[in-house]
Amino acid sequence: MFGYNGRLLRVNLSAFTSTEEPIDERDIRHFMGGRGLGTLYLFREVPKRADPLSPQNRLLFLTGPLTGTPFQATSRLVVCTKSPLTGCYARSSAGGDFAVWLRSCGYDFLSVEGAAERPVYLYVGDGRVEIRDASEIWGKTTTETQRYLREVHGKRTRIACIGPAGERLVKFAAIVTGRRTASRCGVGTVMGSKKLKAIVLDAIPRNPAFFDPDLVKDLARQQLGMIRTNPQFQKHKKYGTTDGATTRNAIGVYPTRNFRFGQMKDYQLLSEEEYMKLRVGEFGCYGCLARCGKVHRVPPGRIYEGTMSDGPEYESYWSFSGPIDSPCIEATIAADRLCDELGLDSISTGGTIGFAYELYERGIIGKAETEGLELSYGNHEVMIELIRKIALRDGIGDILAEGTRRAALMIGKGAEEYAMHVKGLELAGYEPRGLKATGFGYATSTIGGSHSNGSLAFQEWGLPFPRSVNRFDEEGKADIVIFNQHNSALGEVGIV
Ligand code: SF4
Repeated sequence: MFGYNGRLLRVNLSAFTSTEEPIDERDIRHFMGGRGLGTLYLFREVPKRADPLSPQNRLLFLTGPLTGTPFQATSRLVVCTKSPLTGCYARSSAGGDFAVWLRSCGYDFLSVEGAAERPVYLYVGDGRVEIRDASEIWGKTTTETQRYLREVHGKRTRIACIGPAGERLVKFAAIVTGRRTASRCGVGTVMGSKKLKAIVLDAIPRNPAFFDPDLVKDLARQQLGMIRTNPQFQKHKKYGTTDGATTRNAIGVYPTRNFRFGQMKDYQLLSEEEYMKLRVGEFGCYGCLARCGKVHRVPPGRIYEGTMSDGPEYESYWSFSGPIDSPCIEATIAADRLCDELGLDSISTGGTIGFAYELYERGIIGKAETEGLELSYGNHEVMIELIRKIALRDGIGDILAEGTRRAALMIGKGAEEYAMHVKGLELAGYEPRGLKATGFGYATSTIGGSHSNGSLAFQEWGLPFPRSVNRFDEEGKADIVIFNQHNSALGEVGIV
């Protein structure tokens, strides 16, 4: 069947076994792409009441029918599992090229099952599947881990790994692959619960076979032409997502002080032009001209000097500024780097820290709980310290590592009122009171408060398709919410 290898790789870490298995063609036709097959296998194979951190849970790494093709931005990785943060179905997506390597290894997806008793990593390549000892890299950061594994297995490999946060089962740990991450819903936590430090794929990328190669070439050329002439694409290529603070603050939807306000004072310090001044490089994902990943470095003589980050993208720099009301651009770079190294979801990390700041302001927690740290708005140095504490589950970080919903229950004293989440997943950087359809999108999203699951309603920003809407209207928007969620699902089942 074109578009698929027609087989999956199962790795059982309890039994230390791996098996290849054909995928039923009917399943492929009915549940297309990464999200489709991931959802099917998850619901089919994970028992209803399974603890997400038990060996019963599955961790699925999935490709789609257009992975590795010449079409633009169609080679992202989908990770599906049962989330330890929300207790619900989870899907997280990462850019980069891991999915292309997985496809080139001969599989449409990888299912990790069971749990190892000691740290291991998985090697797939040269027709071999090996579960190897990971004691050398357990405890290492994501950069150290990837560097080590590349030295051992060579430069043509692609790696997905967790950092110290995933090892310690921080509930919102991420999986890092190259310079990209699958961040949301605690997919890295599930990987940590299986004691799986990393997956190494060793392959030479190859193009999938096409039914009509000439038509594919022609369509890819047409797509490229349409994208190149689109002014939005040009802007995205130039700035990545660093224009987010400018556009969100302009209309009052930049969540500030744990979502109390919609605009941050001095937000201009986080403008796209300010990030441009610190830019030292850029990168993209497989088969995407946008190259929206922008690399920033803090110059000498400034706070956090010398820190370099593969970002931050909008969601990350909002997470490290809005929730704690700090317009310090250098801190956003330092925090972003730290989260990538430790393997944390930046949105949940920033959201949880913003929640803690509000509890501190209201006297629900004090210096006794924070070990003397002053969680006052604007204090970015404490935010950096809290990121470390969360990843290492140190002091108050041990409670915050549970995410806002659980942390609020543990703290009590009315803390729940200030926990900003949907289904336990911390909200992204869009103030829903100024974007009502986006609020409805958050509320009805299958994975919780994510912005990337069809929740964002660009019709509220003027997109006329299927129709633009007044962003403050609360009535008559159900069709828009449904349209966006279907559209997102369509994109993910069909093209990633
Ligand atoms: S480079 Fe940017 S736009 Fe292109 S696939 Fe990666 S994240 Fe998406």
